[in-house]
This record gives sequence, C-alpha cells and structure tokens, in this order.
Amino acid sequence: MSRDFFDAQPEAFYEEYWKMVKVMASARPNSAHLALAEYDVPIITQNIDCLHQRAGSKIVAQIHGYYNEFICERCHESYQLPENRPVPYLCPKCRSVLKPKVVLYGEQLQDWEEAVSLVLAADTLLVVGTSLQVYPAAYLPQLAEERGIKVIISNEAADTRVPAFLAEHLSAK
Ligand SMILES: [Zn+2]
Repeated sequence: MSRDFFDAQPEAFYEEYWKMVKVMASARPNSAHLALAEYDVPIITQNIDCLHQRAGSKIVAQIHGYYNEFICERCHESYQLPENRPVPYLCPKCRSVLKPKVVLYGEQLQDWEEAVSLVLAADTLLVVGTSLQVYPAAYLPQLAEERGIKVIISNEAADTRVPAFLAEHLSAK
C-alpha cells in the first residue's frame, strides 16, 4: 500500500483498502487494550485500527495514522466515512480523490511530536508486540533509554502479560 500505488491507481488501491477496513472494523479490543485503558496509560501505537480508543484509552498517538479517517488533499477537509460503505472515495465538496489518513509507504509519520513528548513525560516505557525493526518508531525506546527512562519489552502473550504487569506495577499507587 504505497503512495505511488494510491496516486497511480486509486480505484485498485481502494479495492484493497476496503478489504482491510472490513477486517479492522470487525476487530475487538483484547484484554491488553482493555487493561491499558483501565489504568489510563498513554499509548503510542504503530497500529491504525483504533482499538485503543475503542477500549476507552483517551491519549493515543497512532503514528501510522487512522484507518477510518480520510482527507481531501485539495481542500484539506477531513471526513469519517461509514465503515461498510464501498468506495465512496471522492471529496463531497470538490470531487477530488480522498486519501485515507494512514501512513503509506513513502509518506511521513503522523502524531510524531506527540509520541516523542509522551515518551519524554514517562517514567517507564512498556514496549509491546513490536520487533523494533522499523524506524523511526524503533527510535522511541532508544530515546527513552538515553534519557534514563526505564524500558520494558514484552513481545509474547501480550493479552495476559500486559494486564498482569499493570496490576503489579500500578496497583501500589
Ligand atoms: Zn475536497
């Protein structure tokens, strides 16, 4: 799903895109999402599925964007379209092709400054379910370590380990 593909063949792009949207729209928050919301933990995520917001988290920086938001690059208007609507991808005002507010290959990250300030405001950074292979996202734990912020990496069984971790570390407060 690259910017080049979107620019060259928007209809084919949207055919693929809506398949993805359907999967994301039917996904449900798991127990890790729910626990993070319950303990009010600010989130930085590479996922675009908005499951943290659906779980009830209030501070969420989705650095790869938001699957259910669309922007007109001509009139800079944003839209939320119904999830089950097939290919209504033209701007209602100017009829330009709307672009999903997701970071395509070849585009800049979103919410990046917010993500950096969330890291810098933290005393602990819990890293969950990422291989840390993709930059610049993988830079955030490095930044935390440089600033003396504790970094804990938990890549297995997040749905059980994250709630257990939060209960252990945050209940004492
Ligand atoms: Zn427009």
